[in-house]
Amino acid sequence: MSEMYLYNTLTRKREAFKPLDLSLVRMYTCGPTVYNDAHVGNLRSYLFADLLRRTLEYNGYKVKQVMNVTDVGHLTSDANTGEDKVEVRARKEGKSAWEIAAHYTERFQQDLERLNVLFPTIMVKATDHITEQIDLIKVLEKKGYTYQTDDGIYFDTSKFQSYVKLAKLDLKGLMAGARVEYNPQKRNPTDFALWKFSPEEVKKQMEWESPWGKGFPGWHIECSAMSMKYLGETFDIHTGGVDHIPVHHTNEIAQSEAATGKKFVNYWLHGEFLILGEDQKMAKSAGNFITLQTLVEKGFNPLAYRYLCLTAHYRSKLQFSWESLQAAQNALNNLYAAIGMFGEPKTGCAEYEERFLKAINDDLDAPKALAVVWELIKSDLPPSAKAASLSKFDQVLALNLQEERRKRQRLPQGAEELIKEREEARKIKDWAKSDALREKLHQLGLEVEDTPAGPKWKVIK
Ligand code: AMP
Ligand code: ZN
Repeated sequence: MSEMYLYNTLTRKREAFKPLDLSLVRMYTCGPTVYNDAHVGNLRSYLFADLLRRTLEYNGYKVKQVMNVTDVGHLTSDANTGEDKVEVRARKEGKSAWEIAAHYTERFQQDLERLNVLFPTIMVKATDHITEQIDLIKVLEKKGYTYQTDDGIYFDTSKFQSYVKLAKLDLKGLMAGARVEYNPQKRNPTDFALWKFSPEEVKKQMEWESPWGKGFPGWHIECSAMSMKYLGETFDIHTGGVDHIPVHHTNEIAQSEAATGKKFVNYWLHGEFLILGEDQKMAKSAGNFITLQTLVEKGFNPLAYRYLCLTAHYRSKLQFSWESLQAAQNALNNLYAAIGMFGEPKTGCAEYEERFLKAINDDLDAPKALAVVWELIKSDLPPSAKAASLSKFDQVLALNLQEERRKRQRLPQGAEELIKEREEARKIKDWAKSDALREKLHQLGLEVEDTPAGPKWKVIK
């Protein structure tokens, strides 16, 4: 087995990956808060986790991946104040919080499917694990890590010695910068709610009895409770976006390790943000977000977005623009056109396969892996070898290369050339020629429709 290297946020080092158990890699991915559609920035995070999982599997590992769905407890302010995001949305839409969560969970799953993101081995909802969360808080209480305020049960971060480890937090700076309105009953600005009491003035839709009173879990505790339930007290990999480093993941480590006395996770991997313009982050709360559905409605193939994400390393920021998406779509079309010509796969090319593996095993260097793909396509190797290696690479890239190759091979004879010729004509805006070619294709039994994603065609006879 070739060595896989991953950048571990915990140590700030690129490390050789060694799973606890060679027969099964245990991995947890922080999932969505289901009060709205995911935006393409969120989806970049899941594409990164999928690339990691596919790379592990490509290396021969079996992977158990758990993802949570936050359907309760994520408040409008990350400082443990404000209202539950799902309930706010429910009120706006005149639906129940449960309906909202179910609706957006389904939409999220559809997005994953359209992007060829492998479905997690287990996808679990916070509301289905209230007992587990209460049990974990009880352990923390028994060990003396908790205290009560008027609005909930809090974790005392000063009692957990290595609290700053993951984020290398500057606690003094945090103290000084703490916002004035922060809960004055909190002992430290970094303390966070494990259990929140239901407010007396509003009737909450999602609330449960607990040893401390009626209420609901804080946001962080769900990931500790569910990951440890399905993956054990210590597991291999935990993923999420970089925004999770200073708060959510720092708190997950604190409450898990305080409860078990064991190391929680060996490798922490974080995906950088998708940004707009210079450095504007795409955020649900900022209202500047673009969904996958919008891309599809504009005529793009969702996999063009997957391709775009592969062009940047997961630890680099990626700037989104319609131009870059169009460039990714064009590259994908060219890839499909090339593959369409290669015929049946036979024996692949060991040299290129080795280089591809080396690239993705180097902390998931997808841009380098894509460069290998294009070099292979342009090489003098026999088409059947190219087809074979590319179909292997697609286990990681997940761009539907095999499917597109087969689709193109079903094309009537001569159609591929006509499609290409027509594309050329369209590029130089020779509409008369492009229309004439469309008619020719029609006679061959193909219906062509032009979309921003390039011409789409279907066999009509
Ligand atoms: P949420 O549904 O808000 O809990 O976020 C889901 C995931 O998306 C988290 O792992 C975030 O870190 C990640 N995320 C949020 N915004 C972006 C962005 N602009 N680019 C990449 N990932 C993001
Ligand atoms: Zn989480």
